[in-house]
Amino acid sequence: MIVAMQESAPEEQIQRVIEHLVKMGFSVHRTTGVRQTVLAGVGPRSDFDVRDVEVLAGVEQVHRISAPYKLAGRSFRPQGTVVAFANGVKIGAEEIVVMAGPCSVESREQLFTVAEQVAKAGARALRGGAFKPRTSPYSFQGLGLEALKLLREAGDRFGLLVISEVMEISQIEPMLPYVDILQVGARNMQNFNLLRELGKVRKPVLVKRGIAATLEELLLSAEYIMAGGNYELILCERGIRTFETYTRNTLDISAIPIIHKLSHLPMASDPSHGTGRRDKVAPMARASVAAGADALLIEVHHDPDKALSDGAQSLYPEQFSELMAQLRMIAPAVGRRMV
Ligand code: PEP
Ligand code: MN
Repeated sequence: MIVAMQESAPEEQIQRVIEHLVKMGFSVHRTTGVRQTVLAGVGPRSDFDVRDVEVLAGVEQVHRISAPYKLAGRSFRPQGTVVAFANGVKIGAEEIVVMAGPCSVESREQLFTVAEQVAKAGARALRGGAFKPRTSPYSFQGLGLEALKLLREAGDRFGLLVISEVMEISQIEPMLPYVDILQVGARNMQNFNLLRELGKVRKPVLVKRGIAATLEELLLSAEYIMAGGNYELILCERGIRTFETYTRNTLDISAIPIIHKLSHLPMASDPSHGTGRRDKVAPMARASVAAGADALLIEVHHDPDKALSDGAQSLYPEQFSELMAQLRMIAPAVGRRMV
């Protein structure tokens, strides 16, 4: 931590700040400039609050020089994390992995129709909510266990991995036999008890950014899971809430290169929730690939007008295959490939 003292700060205030830093476990290196004194605190701790120092008398500015996360930080694994699956698919390697399917599993007929089409277009994983976090308690809440069974069956039939959202601790165990990736939704990004439990699981977890979460907070959520010993993580930008109302959320494309710089974890993009509008999904998917996304999560429905959730942002299967063809052209331009 770097502490710049005010020009007018008397020696006793400087001494008090030094004592405070020492008490926090830092060794302090002092530089006395012509006008200002600067203190550099070097220490093993990263879980401090800079405001504790900022409020001390005579302090002008405080800067943190080490990230508050360790396991999720790039320096923990400079070469990057690759999440590998038994069928050979890898997230975080050269191939960009597309996960697609309906927002919610609604019926066998719906799921199998969509699964067949997305598999044919080149998707590697089937998405579909079994437990749905709905804003209204009167909206469709998901088919639960029945949906998980359908997802596994459709995934196996069409050679797709399965990803589905886990909303609470009690759902983890029942989900494990059916899914390849557990998704933590935007609303649960800071459900710390859930994150801790997922740290004990030995199965990949995809963590979505909360609607008002900073990237540092997203990385600290990943840190919770990693601290429990589960390093098989994928992060996902899915749009944040801004003052713009045209789109459902504002997809923060810059989160992709920023996470790649700060962390070794693979970074996915969800242009469906990120825009909320079918006609904006393809451009934002293309932009995500161009920006370096390792994976995409895209909602597809064969009859979106009748979808029980998120129909307006779901692509028709033909739109999805057209998009996949475009992504196949963009990927090599950024050193990646797609099947
Ligand atoms: C979803 O993937 O269907 C979902 C509910 O996503 P989010 O948590 O990003 O809203
Ligand atoms: Mn959805």
